[in-house]
Amino acid sequence: MSLRIVVTVKYVPDATGDRHFADDLTVDRDDVDGLLSELDEYAVEQALQISEARQEAGDDVEITVLTVGPEDAKDALRKALSMGADKAIHVEDDDLHGTDAIGTSLVLAKAIEKAGYDLVVSGMASTDGTMGIVPALVAERLGVPQVTLLSEVSVEGGTVKGRRDGDSATEQLEASLPAVVSVTDQSGEARYPSFKGIMAAKKKPVESWDLSDLDIDEDEVGLENAYTVVESATERPARTAGTIVKDEGEGGKQLAEFLAGQKFI
Ligand SMILES: Cc1cc2nc3c(=O)[nH]c(=O)nc-3n(C[C@H](O)[C@H](O)[C@H](O)COP(=O)(O)OP(=O)(O)OC[C@H]3O[C@@H](n4cnc5c(N)ncnc54)[C@H](O)[C@@H]3O)c2cc1C
Repeated sequence: MSLRIVVTVKYVPDATGDRHFADDLTVDRDDVDGLLSELDEYAVEQALQISEARQEAGDDVEITVLTVGPEDAKDALRKALSMGADKAIHVEDDDLHGTDAIGTSLVLAKAIEKAGYDLVVSGMASTDGTMGIVPALVAERLGVPQVTLLSEVSVEGGTVKGRRDGDSATEQLEASLPAVVSVTDQSGEARYPSFKGIMAAKKKPVESWDLSDLDIDEDEVGLENAYTVVESATERPARTAGTIVKDEGEGGKQLAEFLAGQKFI
C-alpha cells in the first residue's frame, strides 16, 4: 500500500524577538526573524513515526511538507526536511499578504489537493495566530473527516486512529482515509535534525507555487478580503524598573502594603 502524507507547517515570527505591526496593522514580518512553528514540529514528528511504522510493515510512504508564507518560509520547510520529510511545497504570492484563516485554509486545501494526499497532519495551533481552526477548515474544504487534537496517532490499513485526552475523558477516535488530523504537544518530543539530515535536506526537492498554480483568484485572499482584521493596536508600555523593598525591619509590612495597594491581597 502507498501512503501520501502532507504535513502543514507554518513559518512564524520568533516569539523571543521584538515584534511590531506594520502601517496596515498586519504583523511586520520583515522586522523579525522567523522559524518553524514549534507546535508544527510535533506534526512533522508524528508523520515521521507513522512513516517509519508503515515502512516497516512494507508500505511506500512519502511525506510532503507544505507551507503558505513569505520567501523566508523556506527556512521552515528546510527544518522539516532536515528532520526527515521527503519533499516540500512552498506557496508564495504577493496577493497573500494579510490573508486570514479562511483564506489560508483555501490555499492549503487547494495545494493539498494538487499535491495528492491520503493523510494531512497539522499542528494543534500556530504559535503566532493560535486560532487552532485551520485543520478543521482544511478538512471541511477537502470534504474529508477531521480528527483533531490527538496526543497519539497511527495508521492501520486505510484507517487513521488516535487518542484525544480531554479534561474529563480520553477518547479513542478513528477515521477512514483520506483524512485530516491535528496533533498536540503531548504527542511526543520532536526529534532534532541530525547533521546527516541537515546535509540531505539541501538536496531534497522544494516546489514553489503561486495563486495561479492553484486556480485561486486574488479576490479570494489577502487583507482586503479577510473576515478578520486588526482594527487598532497599541504598543505595550515599556517595563518600569519596579519597586524595590529594602528590609530594614519593616520589609514584610511594606511588602504586604504594596500587594494590598495593587489589590493582590
Ligand atoms: C502570506 C500570508 C500573510 C499573512 N500576513 C499576515 C499579516 O500580515 N498579519 C497577520 O496578523 N497575519 C497574517 N497572516 C496570518 C494568517 O492570517 C493566520 O496566521 C492564518 O489565518 C492561520 O491562523 P493561525 O495561525 O491562528 O492558525 P491555526 O489554526 O492556529 O493553525 C493550526 C495549524 O494549521 C497549519 N497552518 C496554519 N497556517 C499555516 C500556513 N500559513 N502554512 C501552513 N500551515 C499552516 C499548521 O499546521 C498549524 O499548526 C498571514 C498569512 C499568510 C499565509
